Amino acid sequence: MQNDIERVLINRGAIADRVRALADEITQDLCGSAASLPAPSPEQDAPQPARITLVPILTGSLIFVSDLIRHLPIQMQIHPVSISSYPGTATTSQGPKVCGDIDTLPDSLEGADVLVIDDILDSGNTLSLVTQLLEQRQPRSVRTCVMLRKQRLQAMSYPIDYVGFDIPDEFVVGYGLDYNGYYRNLPDIVTLRPEILGLKTAT
Ligand code: 5GP
Ligand code: MG
Repeated sequence: MQNDIERVLINRGAIADRVRALADEITQDLCGSAASLPAPSPEQDAPQPARITLVPILTGSLIFVSDLIRHLPIQMQIHPVSISSYPGTATTSQGPKVCGDIDTLPDSLEGADVLVIDDILDSGNTLSLVTQLLEQRQPRSVRTCVMLRKQRLQAMSYPIDYVGFDIPDEFVVGYGLDYNGYYRNLPDIVTLRPEILGLKTAT
């Protein structure tokens, strides 16, 4: 597996530092207003804590989400959805498709502050599909977070709340991202050698 790596774009130390900083930012945004409410007088009911619902987009965000949530000291529910746009050996998007069940999402998210989490933002089609599914459930707010964003016009102009890293417009694997189902367990974010991706190398 290590021999298939072309180069390391982001190493595990930089990932860990950035995940912690993102979690601090998210905690501040989601809890900041509740935390700054005045203490209730004994006759008043205590202020309601925000109802936080996390929607991880599987499978790619699996490792990012599991790291991120351990730095979020917030009461939350987690409702994953499975979306696939790069089936099998594809290295370009075939369009996002819901795979499996969206019955994991509650019928109503009324009053919930939702945070959608994906591994990487490319065209924005995946986030847009999931955001639409959520808006139908009438949440109080929907925020979006990705670990990586590709430096291409469609991705850079897509409205997003939290981004871990901007990366070059290349196909990457590791830290949850796969090629043909493999390489998700690489701790760093890397590119693969062209011959592994079935691309012709220059002669
Ligand atoms: P979008 O819908 O924004 O075009 O693409 C987002 C989805 O495509 C991601 O959730 C991810 O599954 C997949 N994707 C986009 N770029 C890459 C990449 O460079 N590597 C891998 N492994 N998946 C990618
Ligand atoms: Mg994905």
